Amino acid sequence: MRKYWSKACGVITHNEGEWSVKAKIAVLAGDGVGREIVPEAVKVLKVVAEKFGHTFEFTPGDVGGQAIDKVGVPLPPETLTLAKQSDAVLLGAVGGPKWEGLEYNLRPERALLGLREHLGLYANLRPAKLYPMLADASTLKREVIEGIDILVIRELTGGIYFGKPKGIEKLPNGSERGVNTEVYTTEEITRIAKVAFEAARKRRKKVMSVDKANVLESSELWRRVVIAVHKDYPDVELSHIYVDNAAMQLVRNPRQFDVMLCNNIFGDILSDEAAMLTGSIGMLPSASIGAKVGLFEPIHGSAPDIAGKNIANPIATIASAAMLLSYAFKLDMEAAAIEQAIVKTLDVGYRTKDIHSPGTRLVGTTEMGEAILHNLK
Ligand code: NAD
Repeated sequence: MRKYWSKACGVITHNEGEWSVKAKIAVLAGDGVGREIVPEAVKVLKVVAEKFGHTFEFTPGDVGGQAIDKVGVPLPPETLTLAKQSDAVLLGAVGGPKWEGLEYNLRPERALLGLREHLGLYANLRPAKLYPMLADASTLKREVIEGIDILVIRELTGGIYFGKPKGIEKLPNGSERGVNTEVYTTEEITRIAKVAFEAARKRRKKVMSVDKANVLESSELWRRVVIAVHKDYPDVELSHIYVDNAAMQLVRNPRQFDVMLCNNIFGDILSDEAAMLTGSIGMLPSASIGAKVGLFEPIHGSAPDIAGKNIANPIATIASAAMLLSYAFKLDMEAAAIEQAIVKTLDVGYRTKDIHSPGTRLVGTTEMGEAILHNLK
């Protein structure tokens, strides 16, 4: 047996074609439904470790509103240190009405921006794939959405959410002026474009780059750099689309998309739209990757309207755990086992409220988690 260190995670032992991973996973459940769905995903990861011979050490940390209540800030330094010293981060969601009145910099959502910035998470991958048995849960017609399999790649640390100048200033006439700046450099565009082309190579080899190059200079540069990076990926088909048209095409003919490459704000908006094609926001996972430690979370928020009622769908978070195994530790077989357990559970008719339809079995968060565990075992 050989034993060595991996950059991606802790000790890996390799024995006759089998990998054994020893890794530290930071668990940041956060607020609202985060506290219900994350434990289900952790149970799944524990079963994976047992079944496939890995060792995962789970360490909980405070984040979001729950951290504000405890220590007064949404991202305590201890949590940031924990995240940096871990091999991957599993996150639930942050936010809720309780903290909405706080000053912008102290709001729970600031923790997300802080984690992305400090962990260098510049690429957010959001797959929107339709599980065939859920076609009728979508608000769109079956014939429009059947077979969709889209990967939205969103740039996560640049653009208008971070650009400077920003702020609200008082004007001499007593009114106010709000400013945000959309800004991208060649380097930022190059690295996210590479992520998109590499991802496309493992899929249907098509990248659609989303911009607004007809009116925005930052988009003009975006398009120029994406075209330059594409020269190294001649096997991948590249096309460009304006963001307004992309929003329309997503509901008109979503099957035309394979990989959608987006800047921060366009990706934020379009990935939610893509999510809804698949039936429920409670189904969709995400991976944020970059420098070293990746962060894996459902795409939805803390869902305060359903929190604490055991009705939230845990599948997005469990599927995020699958992405964690695949992207952070290259455990593709284990990730596929989780995917198969989800499909099997849906196949036998288990449904949480958000995806329930007549003739299927309505279950709560924990029952859905247990059914997936059962099918994984
Ligand atoms: P949301 O995603 O929390 O909820 C939108 C709708 O989807 C709600 O009707 C909710 O009940 C439903 N929903 C969400 N997750 C679900 C699940 N797992 N199962 C079933 N239904 C689910 O978005 P929102 O209501 O706009 O925001 C609520 C709070 O979450 C806000 O404070 C917001 O800032 C925060 N938020 C956090 C994140 C994050 O932590 N990454 C992302 C988005 C919003």
